Amino acid sequence: MVGAGAAGLYAALVAARQGARVALVSRSPLAETASYWAQGGIAAALAEEDSPERHLEDTLAAGRGAARGSAARVLCDESPGRVRDLERLGVRFDADRHGALALGLEGGHSARRIVHAGGAATGRRVTRQLSALAATHERIEVLEPVAAVALWLSGDRCIGLLGRDGRGGAVPLLARGTVLATGGMAALWERTTNPPGALGAGLYLAAAAGAVLADLEFMQFHPTALAAGSPGDGFLITEAVRGEGATLLDPSGERFVDELAPRDEVALAIESRLRQSGERAVWLDMRAIDTERFPNIAAALADAGLDPKRDLVPVAPAAHYTMGGVATDLHGRATLAGLHAVGECACTGLHGANRLASNSLAECMVFGRRAALAAAARPAPPADAGAPPPPLPPPLPGASTRAALWRLAGLVRDADGLRELARDPFPLARSIAAAGLAREESRGAHQRRDVPAPDPALDGRHAVLRGEASPSMERWD
Ligand SMILES: Cc1cc2nc3c(=O)[nH]c(=O)nc-3n(C[C@H](O)[C@H](O)[C@H](O)COP(=O)(O)OP(=O)(O)OC[C@H]3O[C@@H](n4cnc5c(N)ncnc54)[C@H](O)[C@@H]3O)c2cc1C
Repeated sequence: MVGAGAAGLYAALVAARQGARVALVSRSPLAETASYWAQGGIAAALAEEDSPERHLEDTLAAGRGAARGSAARVLCDESPGRVRDLERLGVRFDADRHGALALGLEGGHSARRIVHAGGAATGRRVTRQLSALAATHERIEVLEPVAAVALWLSGDRCIGLLGRDGRGGAVPLLARGTVLATGGMAALWERTTNPPGALGAGLYLAAAAGAVLADLEFMQFHPTALAAGSPGDGFLITEAVRGEGATLLDPSGERFVDELAPRDEVALAIESRLRQSGERAVWLDMRAIDTERFPNIAAALADAGLDPKRDLVPVAPAAHYTMGGVATDLHGRATLAGLHAVGECACTGLHGANRLASNSLAECMVFGRRAALAAAARPAPPADAGAPPPPLPPPLPGASTRAALWRLAGLVRDADGLRELARDPFPLARSIAAAGLAREESRGAHQRRDVPAPDPALDGRHAVLRGEASPSMERWD
């Protein structure tokens, strides 16, 4: 198991529960995972008036005609069971005054279906509990800090990986199934809500070993990330504050957008104001709301020298969530035998062009379980595995690549900019450019100023990338 965020921790526990022995490899501490920072919650149709069908309808609507229906159905059918399992594992979700789960409403959901833990501290509470269980489980060996630096192949099968520990020592690991749970790649963009390690390491390892990637053109931008310079630049200010009445003001102090419109619409409206005005930020006016309900936000703003009761808060969009990733089937199986991917590094196709809020933690659990069971059922690696592979060059983008992704593959792109990005020295940047060029339309998170409308011929199609060849636009069931 590579990665100890929500997906890797949960998958490790499921595999161990099945009787498997698990090596859990993590490059960085828990507090540096995206999972730890998740503020909202986990989407699951648990309310009496709700149903997996309704959750599915909302997920498909958010995906703007590009979501893979079978994967979205699995998510919506199975997330209630995963929430119950997390409760059995000791996660204490917030309850109402009758002791039932308190279910929240978020943008794009037609029913109350978001479970929270500790208010806006869901990610922290869930991962701390899973991490504590993994650390003490007799069949899980936690190897931290160890970075996976290459996948180990035997013929056309993945049989493990080469890791590198904190002192540079080699850690070769053989496994029946190798599960990537390495998180997304939003930190490749200059402005991001993600921790700095979210650089797509799993995508890079998988592609180098010959696995297929998909949907890389779909990066979700969050509209309201702090834009106050450091410290705290990119800190996410949840839309729940807009739900409580915070308003957005343009540089001349005017309201310019329905603050409760879907995330991609608000982000595009802000982007357009910033382009017109040449300013770096618009203002979030939180002066009329009760900031005590958002203590983590008040604390982050205080660190940045801002008092939301008195000051307008500068915000601007930032890269937030990677819809694409290592292409997998409904059991987390990548196209390379023996390799699985789960969580944000994977692309089941379920999010289509736009992830519905709080579906990603649900995905970590639902597909984490499926991948864990499938990986544990693989045959043992061969006895004559040969020597472990050499390490790949470190997948570290330079500052110029991060600036180029922001400038050329930001909220609005065009073919000229994507062609420029396709010459970037960083391989993943080139792949993102290739996917953006292949999708000759605007849809969800992929807005092309040169082709501003969706193309019905691309409904349900995914940009599938095999090596450095141009992606093909394929339909997935
Ligand atoms: C600020 C913020 C708020 C969010 N809020 C929500 C929310 O409310 N609800 C929701 O559903 N989603 C939310 N999301 C998205 C969600 O948190 C992520 O999609 C999800 O947590 C990803 O989990 P993961 O386990 O796939 O990856 P991560 O949690 O990012 O974990 C990745 C792990 O992989 C390890 N790793 C990476 N590369 C290597 C390597 N080469 N070798 C070894 N280890 C490696 C890292 O050290 C880490 O342990 C939010 C995201 C952010 C950033």
